[in-house]
Amino acid sequence: MAEPYQHYIDGEWVSGDGSETFESENPATGETLAEFERGSPSDIDQAITVAEAAYEEWRELSRIERAEYLWDVYQELRDRTDELGEIVTKECGKEISEGKADVVEAAHMVEWAAGDARHPSGDIIPSEIAAKDAYMRRKPRGVTGCITPWNFPIAIPYWHMAVALVEGNTVVFKPAEQTPWCAQIIAEMFDDAGIPPGVFNMVQGFGDAGNAIVEDDRVPTVLFTGSAEVGHKIAGKLGDVSGRRVACEMGGKNAVVITEEADLDIAVHSAVMSSFKTTGQRCVSAERLIVHTDIYDEFKDRFVEIASNVAVGDPLDEETFMGPLIEAEHAEKVARYNELAREEGVNILVDRTELDAAEIPDGHENGHWIGPFVYEADPDADLRCISEEVFGPHVALLEYDGDIERAVEIQNDTPYGLAGAIVSEDYRQINYYRDHAELGLAYGNLPCIGAEVQLPFGGVKKSGNGYPSAREIIEAVTDRTAWTLNNSKDIKMAQGLSADIITEND
Ligand code: ADP
Repeated sequence: MAEPYQHYIDGEWVSGDGSETFESENPATGETLAEFERGSPSDIDQAITVAEAAYEEWRELSRIERAEYLWDVYQELRDRTDELGEIVTKECGKEISEGKADVVEAAHMVEWAAGDARHPSGDIIPSEIAAKDAYMRRKPRGVTGCITPWNFPIAIPYWHMAVALVEGNTVVFKPAEQTPWCAQIIAEMFDDAGIPPGVFNMVQGFGDAGNAIVEDDRVPTVLFTGSAEVGHKIAGKLGDVSGRRVACEMGGKNAVVITEEADLDIAVHSAVMSSFKTTGQRCVSAERLIVHTDIYDEFKDRFVEIASNVAVGDPLDEETFMGPLIEAEHAEKVARYNELAREEGVNILVDRTELDAAEIPDGHENGHWIGPFVYEADPDADLRCISEEVFGPHVALLEYDGDIERAVEIQNDTPYGLAGAIVSEDYRQINYYRDHAELGLAYGNLPCIGAEVQLPFGGVKKSGNGYPSAREIIEAVTDRTAWTLNNSKDIKMAQGLSADIITEND
């Protein structure tokens, strides 16, 4: 068997201190893809040490010079989109159009960050005093820890790292343990681009390696995208530590609101996309469909018809809509939630927890297959299945009666606030939703998935405490300085404050 893949520290491929390895698995077949060294806290310590040393020179380059390295990465992402898209699909099970879209989104983020290097940065601000020039300038913060999940294995690392690097920070990247192959390619791309040693470092591994980044005071900024459970643990540890900042993007119990004024074609299309794309494993996937009673029966019939027939299968096949779940433990978790819904007494409409043998393609018997699970429940019932994030194709239809205020009340009846959508032809309903739904990402007459990198991305409430991704990440990875320069020999103060120095002799 080939040697396990290594970590990338200080511009070198290195074996860590530990002797353990782990394997990457194709979730559609169960086959082993490759073997990787498992990083330990001491490997993270080493990566932070070199990242801290490299920071001194990296921050002295101009933004445009730093961006040059990223243009090389951009070119490679573009040239290799199809090949890398297939690797994404093989390693995380997303159907092939999603695999490629992951790489395209990464390219967009790199393009945005590198292009931004030539754009104005900061603000020129008026001063009350004519002789004073005032500016808002940004400074990098230092070593940035990037802890990422498996479901966008190429895009999210670049969401974190592209802007962080252009702004002058150095990086220690701890990718998800489920998608080390994609992370290996990301590191190879930085190596191909000739990024200076220590500026970008990658340590493969699990939560203990991620935690070592969190625990290290030499890392002023931690960017985390992943589960609410881990994200809140990290935010709890660092929230109060001065000088350290953590930006977390976590999950949601997202909803699509479908009012009595909805175009039902748009409603059904948006609901299916929101619930089942990526097999429900996007942080923005919808697990609640809040549907007005006047159109409920028709919507239900149409949604159930599609959920019963949606194509689950080989994600490399372009005729597939839903691939497998990421791993066996996750499939077990989703199956447990389906069972919980049954125990909680909801009315089950579609149950494809166990797919028919005929639905599973040849050679894919060891994949982690679960099809759509759809049920109807009372929106006011105190049920775990309609409150807790499942992260799978597990969807509740919640029928409501009344006006848009009532629909938004149900939408907001969750501790989360990541993404949501409204389907309606009535602009007053849409505007009410826009202004009152407690969400970081909101859509009208669209699915609640499908972010673009030039928009902010992040949630409110339990879904996030900042923007570790897309363009607003600039706030997380820089500090602002309000800089004022006096062009006069006299010192004059704002607000009429006296600048006279008065002594006892005056
Ligand atoms: P998911 O459920 O999407 O896999 P997780 O929150 O479990 O999300 O994982 C997201 C990332 O966080 C992964 O890279 C994982 O290894 C890392 N991680 C898990 N536990 C911890 C922890 N205690 N501290 C820091 N990082 C962690």
